[in-house]
Amino acid sequence: MKLILLGPVGSGKGTQAGLISERYKLPHISTGEIFRSNIKSGTELGKLAKSYIDRGELVPEDVTNNLVKNRIAEKDCIYGFILDGYPRNLAQAEFLNTITEIDLALMINLSEEKIIERLSSRRMCNKCNQPTSLAWMIDGKCEKCGGDVYIRDDDKPDVIKNRLTKQAVPQDLINYYREKGVFSSIDATDDVESTYSLVDEELKKVNNND
Ligand code: AMP
Repeated sequence: MKLILLGPVGSGKGTQAGLISERYKLPHISTGEIFRSNIKSGTELGKLAKSYIDRGELVPEDVTNNLVKNRIAEKDCIYGFILDGYPRNLAQAEFLNTITEIDLALMINLSEEKIIERLSSRRMCNKCNQPTSLAWMIDGKCEKCGGDVYIRDDDKPDVIKNRLTKQAVPQDLINYYREKGVFSSIDATDDVESTYSLVDEELKKVNNND
């Protein structure tokens, strides 16, 4: 199953991708996460990406496209993958189409009001690299693994605003997958598990078509 999760920043698509990955045993490929781990380890890619990420801008196309191309060619992607944060625009989708065929592009929808509420309480775990929230943490630590948490630099209020305006899911990207007959959309206002049930219904439809 080759999946794309679309959605505005803060919609919870990273969390949903993590759950799908766990339950369907598919690799979760988050371009944002790959950039962040490269920034952490100080690679050339990390240095380049940081200058864009810190401003809430997209990392240049060729860099991101190549990264995804190499990642999905790895062995663990043989039975499929979940792309989270890629493609972000039509050009990236068209590039992706030249290297693989997607089974489902699932949009995780959330109102702007809820997004801001969630992003301001979002934390990232230093140990398992999964997103968490002030509301879920236990004794100030990640509820999943007990790791220390931090606030993403791009979750600071000024950058959030920039990301929300500059990184909304473009309509032409949605149309592209709609025309291919692989687009669907769910609402993520409810809690994580209720949202996952909606996600899972969509995944089952794809599996039943095979
Ligand atoms: P995310 O974790 O998906 O919110 O991504 C964090 C940041 O990484 C974004 O604000 C972008 O600067 C960069 N990034 C992630 N995915 C892409 C992509 N597909 N194209 C360009 N930049 C990206």
